[in-house]
Amino acid sequence: MSTCANRAYELDRAHVFHSWSAQSLIDPMVVERAEGSYFWDGDGNRYLDFSSQLVNTNIGHQHPRVVAAIQEQAARLCTIAPSYANDARSEAARLIAGRTPAGLDKVFFTNGGADAVEHAVRMARLHTGRPKVLSQYRSYHGGTQTAVNLTGDPRRWPNDNGTAGVVRFFGPFLYRSEFGAATEEEEGALALRHLERVVEMEGPATIAAIVLETVPGTAGIMPPPPGFLPGVRELCDRHGILYIADEVMAGFGRTGAWFALDHYGVVPDLITFAKGVNSGYVPLGGVVISDHIVETFSTRPYPGGLTYSGHPLATAAAVATITAMQEEGIVENAATIGADVLGPGLREIAERHPSVGDVRGLGVFWALELVKDRETKEPLAPYGSSSSEMNEVLAACKRNGLVPFANFNRIHVVPPCTVSEAEAKAGLAILDEALTLADRYAG
Ligand code: PMP
Repeated sequence: MSTCANRAYELDRAHVFHSWSAQSLIDPMVVERAEGSYFWDGDGNRYLDFSSQLVNTNIGHQHPRVVAAIQEQAARLCTIAPSYANDARSEAARLIAGRTPAGLDKVFFTNGGADAVEHAVRMARLHTGRPKVLSQYRSYHGGTQTAVNLTGDPRRWPNDNGTAGVVRFFGPFLYRSEFGAATEEEEGALALRHLERVVEMEGPATIAAIVLETVPGTAGIMPPPPGFLPGVRELCDRHGILYIADEVMAGFGRTGAWFALDHYGVVPDLITFAKGVNSGYVPLGGVVISDHIVETFSTRPYPGGLTYSGHPLATAAAVATITAMQEEGIVENAATIGADVLGPGLREIAERHPSVGDVRGLGVFWALELVKDRETKEPLAPYGSSSSEMNEVLAACKRNGLVPFANFNRIHVVPPCTVSEAEAKAGLAILDEALTLADRYAG
């Protein structure tokens, strides 16, 4: 390791407290630089980034137009309080609202995804005057208190303070159907029926909002059956419940569309975003708010804010990111790579490897579910933890220069939206080889 990398490692171990980790059990890689679909460690080894970090570098690493925009903005105005108007913030809001459905025209900026969810929920409660919020099991909405309580996955468990008003339901997930469905269509219909029953039993007039990741991401990349989200919209309309679409991970090109919602033709009341909006070059998130909710706060103040709401460096990065995505056909690239390379390639891999139980996804947003037995679907790592078997597969990928995103028994193939065909194929070849290790455990 270079002296610089060595020092970074030692200081990290001495002074950095890492998220979601047992502090003495981790061994973080020192990353010295990155470019496009790659990053390099302290020994000069190159890795193909099939994780997009935390599924945020949609435009790839170090995109020159975004780097230049941040530098120009920094030279002119680094920070300004949210009460002022500022060109970077105004333009970012225009570009973001320009990509959401008509009627969602205003943007409240936050520092990331969790606080976007917090504010969307607060807006929904104040607008409706109702206390409850429904979210689905197998979801992730962020690490702050309300967001983590809304989260359905096991990261909630040690954090759950039983926040009043949070109610969970099972969403559609055919591979591990809670409803015994045999087809996507049936799964969607039964999941909707279940949600209707939860709403009825909770008392519709007590429910402010239903929060849904359009395509649940961290919890397993589960594109919903076609009729499910329109059904949720109709259910919400019937009862005066607001529909909050969490597009923090699925938004800004990840699914091969600007928002995952675009695939399903539904219009929510509030949309949360973060990550891909500026690929995480500077922290940024936000809520796009429909006009009827904005109206509630027309003469009555909205009681919430953040020092860095609409931060100039973050919003300048968003303007450059969205402009580059538009002009360079980056969303279209994600769609094509998904349809022509990742989808067919991963399905072929699944045929060859008995350890692959399921493949699902779209765009540059794919999950492989690894199992010990295709019949029983016993996972290669239990729900909520990792396993030595999974770690073997991931270590083999890393040895060969590939870093995918992994969660429990799943490998997520989530490269930047800018990934080339050659890079995508190279990554699949490494994954293919590593999966032979998992096959040894699959009966
Ligand atoms: N919502 C979703 C759907 C997410 O995927 C995430 C982050 N993985 C969040 C919210 C929270 O975002 P952040 O980590 O920026 O707070």
